[in-house]
Amino acid sequence: MDQTDIQQVSQQDTAQPDVIEALAQVFGPAGILTSPEDCARYASDQSGLHGTPPLAVIRPASVHDVSEAMAICSRYRIGVVPQVGRTGLSGGACSPQGTVVLSTERMTGIIELDRDAMTLTAWAGTPLETVQEAAREAGLDYPVDIGARGSATIGGTIATNAGGIRVLQHGMTRANVLGLEAVLADGAVVSRLSKTVKDNSGFDLKHMFIGSEGTLGIVTRAVLQLRRHVPQSALALFALPDHAAALKCLTAARQRFGSRITAFEGMWPDYWDFVCHKTSLATSRLDGRYGFYLLIEVEAEGPESEAELEAFFADLFEADLAQDGVLAKSISEMRALWQVREAVGEVDDDFGHHINFDIGVSPSALGGFCDAADILLADMPEALGVIKVGHVGDGNVHLLVAHDGSHAAEESIEAAIYGLLRDWDGAVTAEHGIGRIKARWMDHSRSPQELALMRGLKAQMDPQGILNPGALFDQI
Ligand SMILES: Cc1cc2nc3c(=O)[nH]c(=O)nc-3n(C[C@H](O)[C@H](O)[C@H](O)COP(=O)(O)OP(=O)(O)OC[C@H]3O[C@@H](n4cnc5c(N)ncnc54)[C@H](O)[C@@H]3O)c2cc1C
Repeated sequence: MDQTDIQQVSQQDTAQPDVIEALAQVFGPAGILTSPEDCARYASDQSGLHGTPPLAVIRPASVHDVSEAMAICSRYRIGVVPQVGRTGLSGGACSPQGTVVLSTERMTGIIELDRDAMTLTAWAGTPLETVQEAAREAGLDYPVDIGARGSATIGGTIATNAGGIRVLQHGMTRANVLGLEAVLADGAVVSRLSKTVKDNSGFDLKHMFIGSEGTLGIVTRAVLQLRRHVPQSALALFALPDHAAALKCLTAARQRFGSRITAFEGMWPDYWDFVCHKTSLATSRLDGRYGFYLLIEVEAEGPESEAELEAFFADLFEADLAQDGVLAKSISEMRALWQVREAVGEVDDDFGHHINFDIGVSPSALGGFCDAADILLADMPEALGVIKVGHVGDGNVHLLVAHDGSHAAEESIEAAIYGLLRDWDGAVTAEHGIGRIKARWMDHSRSPQELALMRGLKAQMDPQGILNPGALFDQI
């Protein structure tokens, strides 16, 4: 992935020593890091964007600490970058020059698991995997799941409204948060850690913070909605002629399995060939080359899901939709099939400089959009290679386009793809977020009226523009 430096949004330079001193007095050595080596570790996330080492890293241990930190930063008008797992892929956690990082890494752990209400209350810095495991121990399930589950946290997944492989069944993070607590730019605490499922008493304010990428407040705690854990699942890989066949399979699968489909993931042949043949990132379990590859996972109370998937495949085969298929017969076979799909997280070294587009369109338009993008990119000498993989049931494709690493190539490929996206009424980011990398392309997804409303909300809640400056909005 291409790496670019950010050097923008310097707050009042003269206030810098004063603010660090004020913070150090309150937080002490465990609560604030100021050495250049420490600060350098907190400069960037996994987007490839290079942040500048922050002036300091504040590590609060309580909601009160966060409130005090924000009050001080607000007084000195210093930009604050909320941050924790740093697995973000759009530069939202990268620090611009002259800012401090506020990391919730010490605010970690599960506060309560309520089996009857099926809720789990956790601190923002708790890793997603820790929450999943705690839920599982109680016979329940927290269905938000992404490849970075070991490092990504509850606060980060809420701030980015993370999606992942189970959106088809349980929705994005937004659909799985019941209550939320956040600290505003001036230090005020807005807390509604409610387990109430039905609450129509005015605006549901938690939704302002979910997906706002740290620009409206700092998430400190959350109440998550758990689901019943379904003990068994079966996984199959189908080889299909094209994406249109995958859409027909989706409709057929919905009719047959209803809400028991836990994953419906698609891989285009360019991606399949890259991870299975051009590199050894994954191993193909199929002979031959096909027009589309589909991973489908179905859950069930008992072992019947395997037989059900086998029967489903037989029907698809008869209808000329599926051309070949593999059913995983063991946990290790399931892992091997998932490895092909999850290898997208490991392509960086082999694929070289590239742009990782995270496009959202209507699920029925996804194939057409990808075909149009292929045609467009084939005519662009700047585009050195394309691979496509995604969440077919959600209309979300991760389109990776290789280039020579120059800004000029990056610029013209982005302009072409986002320009095309406008015609398809799509989203410039389906799940990774806008961050700093995509801020200037927001107007390709959102109308001037929507952008004005968002900016108005930001100005109202953070009039000094100190919360995550430069993220989401390229100008306020
Ligand atoms: C291998 C891999 C696979 C991934 N797969 C997916 C996927 O399938 N779907 C998906 O949606 N994403 C995916 N991601 C992206 C990433 O994991 C998510 O964006 C994740 O939600 C970020 O969590 P984090 O704790 O690392 O947050 P960070 O990277 O630290 O921060 C992300 C954003 O959230 C803000 N933020 C962090 N904590 C807080 C807080 N407490 N309050 C307010 N704002 C805060 C930051 O300012 C930043 O804007 C993947 C990333 C990797 C590396």
